[in-house]
Amino acid sequence: MINIYLASPRGYCAWVNRAINILNGALEKYKAPIFVNHEIIHNKIIIDYYKNKGVIFDDNLENIPENGIMIFSAHWVSPKYIQKVKDKWINYIDASCPLVIKVHTEAKKFLQKWYKIIYIGQKKHQEALWILWEDKNNIFIVENKKDVDLLRNTLKDEKLVLLTQTTLSVSDKDELEKYIFDRFKKIEKPDTSDICYATTNRQNAVKKLIEVKKIDALIVIWSKNSSNSNKLKNIWDKYWIKSILIDRFEDLDLNFLKWIKKLWISSWASVSHDLVNNLIKKLEKNNAKLIEEIKIVEEKINFNFDLELK
Ligand code: SF4
Repeated sequence: MINIYLASPRGYCAWVNRAINILNGALEKYKAPIFVNHEIIHNKIIIDYYKNKGVIFDDNLENIPENGIMIFSAHWVSPKYIQKVKDKWINYIDASCPLVIKVHTEAKKFLQKWYKIIYIGQKKHQEALWILWEDKNNIFIVENKKDVDLLRNTLKDEKLVLLTQTTLSVSDKDELEKYIFDRFKKIEKPDTSDICYATTNRQNAVKKLIEVKKIDALIVIWSKNSSNSNKLKNIWDKYWIKSILIDRFEDLDLNFLKWIKKLWISSWASVSHDLVNNLIKKLEKNNAKLIEEIKIVEEKINFNFDLELK
């Protein structure tokens, strides 16, 4: 028998929940088609679900008609893009996460004071792409030590500040941050961490159980194609834990469960609770039993929203 332990917090963070509520509300109130820039959240299953309901995921404003309705995803959009939306007479509702906005506000503030910004992030992630809209000549995105080395000469005499994408692996970020501080001794950093509470809590919950319960294996529901999720998997591999990332139960090769006695399950901030519940139900039909949920911290936050068009 496999004993299942369930991580908490897991699944949708309050801001992802709000973005989904806004999309549901807009579909009900205004009817399809509703346009969303990029993806409302990074989750292929959710995106496919909404495509079937008539949601069109598209950043290209040329494809959106005058008076069309657009929702800005949780990843935020630049004020310059919003101006273009207004110029095209497109209506919008903003579902951006304020914790992403906070980093962009910091970026703006430092750019106005003539700082150059080193930004730890993923070059193809929406948050990083949007921050470049602020000033692509003075913001330098680094993913790894090699990227930092390439900047040493260019930035050695500059006034510098370090900012970070909100959804990175905390330990990867810490390692790269130390590398940067060792090379740019005077670089400044805002007082509060840019990595958001939801990302931090979900990573800590997984680490905690690996350390305390001495589990054999870990299943995390998350988009397999997310580079961020694969980086986190590398960290769990360091603990010699058998781990797997799946989008849903149907992706799970049941051979993965062989020889496992203690299984830890979690899900990331863009994954609905239904997917985890469904996974547990199906595992329970395969010689597994839910033992307990282990909560490392309470997330009580919930946010209101309105559907007024701007
Ligand atoms: S994961 Fe973090 S940054 Fe992303 S929506 Fe949730 S709280 Fe905001």
